[in-house]
Amino acid sequence: MKIGIVGAGMVGSSAGYAIALMGIASSVIFVDRNADLARAQAEDISHAVPFMSSCVVQAGDYADLKGASVVILAAGVSQKPGETRLELLGRNAAVFREVVGEVLRVAPDAILLIASNPVDIMTQITARLSGLPAERVIGSGTILDTARFRSLLGRHLQISPQSVHAYVLGEHGDSEVLAWSNARAGSEPLLSFATQLGAPLTGAIKAEIDDGVRNAAYKIINGKGATYYGIGAGLARIVKSIAQDQQDVLSVSIVTRHVAGIEDVALSIPRVVGAAGICADMMPTLDDGENEALHRSASMLKTTIEAVEL
Ligand code: ADP
Repeated sequence: MKIGIVGAGMVGSSAGYAIALMGIASSVIFVDRNADLARAQAEDISHAVPFMSSCVVQAGDYADLKGASVVILAAGVSQKPGETRLELLGRNAAVFREVVGEVLRVAPDAILLIASNPVDIMTQITARLSGLPAERVIGSGTILDTARFRSLLGRHLQISPQSVHAYVLGEHGDSEVLAWSNARAGSEPLLSFATQLGAPLTGAIKAEIDDGVRNAAYKIINGKGATYYGIGAGLARIVKSIAQDQQDVLSVSIVTRHVAGIEDVALSIPRVVGAAGICADMMPTLDDGENEALHRSASMLKTTIEAVEL
């Protein structure tokens, strides 16, 4: 399977590195308006590949994306001093207007996987620009926040994060919602399991885990300027589900017709991911507080997308 990556910066290259090492694609093609950067990333990553897989990693232009099954969109511009969030969004929308058109011209059957931030808004912009069905325009959404949530819960309970079933919903950002009420360890409700283990999830521990999930990116950015390995691996995980038609349940963002009382907004809930993209939604049962928080998150995103001009 051929995977295209438009934007060979930190996020795009980390995704390409993870995809290449995991051996889930036969070829990865980087496209960037900075062709030297795309070439350098492809060459550097291709030197790692012989240790792990046989994926061919190259740089190219849009024409080389022909036949790609998935194209990751990780291109973007960064905020200028004094620029508002909406102005930045407008400039990133302009980047996507160019990129999405170019990609669809050569790879009209590809699934588009959006990584650029703010990811929910960029996903909705891509859905509008492409005219593709929602299930083929997938934002990485809260896949990473969910991984952090499960990892912190697993650490507290001393069990594998893979045996913790818990999701972060809504916006990938400040208004995201940690769904505590339906979280499980194995088949057991998390709260009762934690008490059984003698490691109760007290208010203080929940607040600590919430902070660890919600503010992880800020802390990493303070230390190293950007986050990329985590999201790179998350993108590779989504590609794996598509490439191997795994029907995994992942929290990812697509334009959702009705969610938490809001219509047509891109945000994350758990969804089934396979070869066709999103195969089904799994709207979780939430308590009143979580429902209210998800409504707030959805309506904030809706207000933002309505302010974006394309
Ligand atoms: P991130 O940390 O999100 O990966 P970067 O700034 O490292 O951010 O990467 C963004 C990449 O997107 C850059 O390599 C930049 O050259 C690329 N880019 C920006 N605009 C375009 C465009 N119109 N077409 C292709 N690539 C673009």
